[in-house]
Amino acid sequence: MKRVVLLGSTGSIGTSTCKVVEDLPDDIELVGLAAGRNISLLREQVEKFKPRCICVTEQAAAKELSNEYDGMPEVFWGSDGLIEAATIEEADIILIAIVGTAGLEPALAAIRSGKDIAVASKEILVMAGEIVMSEARKYGVRVLAVDSEHSAIFQCLDGCPHESVRQIWLTASGGPFRETPIDEFRKITLDQALKHPSWKMGPKITIDSATLFNKGLEMIEAKWLFDIEMFRVKVIVHPQSVIHSMVEFVDGSIISQLSTPDMCLPIQYALTYPKRMTSERVQTNLAEIGSLEFEEPDAERFPSLNLARKAGDVGGTLPAVLNAANEEAVEAFCNNQISFTDIFRIVASVMDEHNVEENPSLDAIISADSWSRKQVRNTVKSP
Ligand code: NDP
Repeated sequence: MKRVVLLGSTGSIGTSTCKVVEDLPDDIELVGLAAGRNISLLREQVEKFKPRCICVTEQAAAKELSNEYDGMPEVFWGSDGLIEAATIEEADIILIAIVGTAGLEPALAAIRSGKDIAVASKEILVMAGEIVMSEARKYGVRVLAVDSEHSAIFQCLDGCPHESVRQIWLTASGGPFRETPIDEFRKITLDQALKHPSWKMGPKITIDSATLFNKGLEMIEAKWLFDIEMFRVKVIVHPQSVIHSMVEFVDGSIISQLSTPDMCLPIQYALTYPKRMTSERVQTNLAEIGSLEFEEPDAERFPSLNLARKAGDVGGTLPAVLNAANEEAVEAFCNNQISFTDIFRIVASVMDEHNVEENPSLDAIISADSWSRKQVRNTVKSP
């Protein structure tokens, strides 16, 4: 039985995780749930899974829930509450599926209390991958990938020695604008950007998939998870999203992992690893799919890929700056304050203005993140 604390239980990954837990009631128990503001869904989840603790963003909501539940579950709130939830004694593994970087401190607290972490929130590895991975090594805990691409790579590697890998190939669906001519990019609307061709996800990652910043963040995530140089992390567009990623070995063999796109599969693998549990949820009919296509990503229309490669290569505080600038720019785009192409322009200019600090401490990373957000907000206010 794996006892899991789920941070971000009311989101897209969170609700898929709940389905996996319902599929495997004898193997996975949800002992903690953390949501943001969707209290009604959290109430339903408490009813169904009977966790030992819950956490919400607002103190007022926490008070109300505390009165209602009278100690079972215990109710925490805010960023300290997330840390309390991530370190409860009853948990074996913490699944971090909070959008953005709010999961970083709870992830580090979980590691330091000896718990494995399963990471959906790629932003925390982009921002502080070196610190997260070195703390995990120090405390002897696992950092398991929930992102489908990284789960695929992990499955393909299957313990192969590091020196047997030539490069890894992250597959990208190409997003909704894979075939859109560059001169139409400025007119892209929020509604268009929110329509992803193969995955149903939260709004931030859906926009990131449309700009391909999601793939850029995943390149940096891969660097840390698999301890591999950026130049050996490649991206290939694969519109069917059936091959979730591939590993190319030194002898020229390429091993891939395939399935119809459904996040329940990588979530289940992360939570039951090293076991594979029987589940009928994901079925893949290759004859029906028919053909699998591949194409080069277009770096001119999607400058996000080269920006992320640069951030990953330079390292230090630059990945945190890219990540924070992107998060703020996406929010401004979602609020109709900037255009789609402004996202690329703003991230590039904030990266250019940044004085990179090498081997940064966590404090230096957090201040680079804040600096970057401020720069974007100022640009958005006075473009
Ligand atoms: P959603 O927007 O659907 O969900 C975000 C979740 O985080 C919600 O439960 C939300 O709560 C909660 N939340 C937000 N802020 C806080 C906070 N400060 N404290 C506690 N909880 C908070 O996002 P996704 O599920 O799509 O994505 C989550 C992460 O997983 C992202 O980092 C994304 O990149 C990554 N990911 C997602 C994939 C997907 O298929 N969706 C695939 C691979 C990775 P509430 O709604 O109650 O306010």
